[in-house]
Amino acid sequence: MTNYRDKGFQTRAVRAGQRRTGEQEQSEPIFPTSSFVFDNPEQAAARFAGEEPGNIYSRFTNPTVALFEERLAALEGAEAGVGTASGMAAILSLMMSLLEAGDHVVCARQVFGTTATLFNKYLARFGIVTDFVDLTDLDAWGAAIRPETRMLFLESPSNPLTEVADIRALAELARAHDCRLVVDNCFCTPALQRPLELGADLVVHSATKYLDGQGRCVGGAVVGDAATMAEVRGFLRTAGPSMSPFNAWVFAKGLETLGLRMEAHSRHARAVAQWLDDQPGVEQVHYPGLPEHPQHALAGRQQSAYGGIVSFRVAGGEAAAWRLLEGLEWLSLTANLGDAKTTITHPATTTHGRLSAEQRREAGIDAGLIRMAVGLESVSDILDDLGRGLERL
Ligand SMILES: *Cc1c(COP(=O)(O)O)cnc(C)c1O
Repeated sequence: MTNYRDKGFQTRAVRAGQRRTGEQEQSEPIFPTSSFVFDNPEQAAARFAGEEPGNIYSRFTNPTVALFEERLAALEGAEAGVGTASGMAAILSLMMSLLEAGDHVVCARQVFGTTATLFNKYLARFGIVTDFVDLTDLDAWGAAIRPETRMLFLESPSNPLTEVADIRALAELARAHDCRLVVDNCFCTPALQRPLELGADLVVHSATKYLDGQGRCVGGAVVGDAATMAEVRGFLRTAGPSMSPFNAWVFAKGLETLGLRMEAHSRHARAVAQWLDDQPGVEQVHYPGLPEHPQHALAGRQQSAYGGIVSFRVAGGEAAAWRLLEGLEWLSLTANLGDAKTTITHPATTTHGRLSAEQRREAGIDAGLIRMAVGLESVSDILDDLGRGLERL
């Protein structure tokens, strides 16, 4: 079998992880089977004892899930990967594999809300303490680290304000304190940013977003060193939040076009951000590709493009934001992101609606803020529909 690991990104995206069956199929097959048969009792015993590699049961491993895992690991530059039932299952599985009672985590305040809930509500019950710090404040990260700190956790760029963390500097900080840096690489994907190359130890994904890229199914993944991945697989085998073979097939095929899609999402988002910047009624645009973005230069160094997420603040708060959304004809009013179809949402009353007004103010989620995940439709049509909404202001 050809080793695609030393080939270009796009070749890895299309070819890595494929193992043809005797039928010599061109496209990768799906293996919708819960279990696997053994040639004889010796083989069954050797498989269960871990003395012989091979499949036993699809809660542990499945050939289609393995295809996705190998392809994603090849793109992130990781030794190995583990597919999971959702992005949250990936984060939970990693935490359960690496942490124990008494451990301390430092997490960016700007992470996905459900990730914060996982730390605050559930892991806290098992004696894992988390402190939250500003993503962009290196001194705050340093000051929050204690002797019991085992992990630093972040997303970059953040949702919905697209703040950018200095991954290389935080990786050095983690190394100096003998803890691991985990990056949720959902917004950039390995097509635009490879945290492991910047020094991070582990990467988690919500495959639901750009890895699929067409809004079809829910899944997740963890990638990193082989020893940690064996621990994560051990947790998956025991607790069961495993990826389905059908979803794995969708994600593996999604990876084939990931680089092309992320390039187009970035190009479209940049055009939308520049256009919004010139519109009366729009008070502020958040996009790392704009020169006035506070981490524009950093984003340019650590990402190969600026990604598909743009947010902006309209004058007039919630009433104005809702009027704009009501004025749209066809842009999809949904909180999901990473889809070929442009999605648009009002964070203060949806994704960040469970925060108190005080917490929203601290997080910079203004009532007039709107977040877009710019899709692959013709840019002129996206601007046309946005303009229809802006006319309502
Ligand atoms: C959506 C999302 C998650 C959770 O993923 P699911 O697949 O919905 O479980 C985690 N992190 C980020 C940044 C996300 O956008």
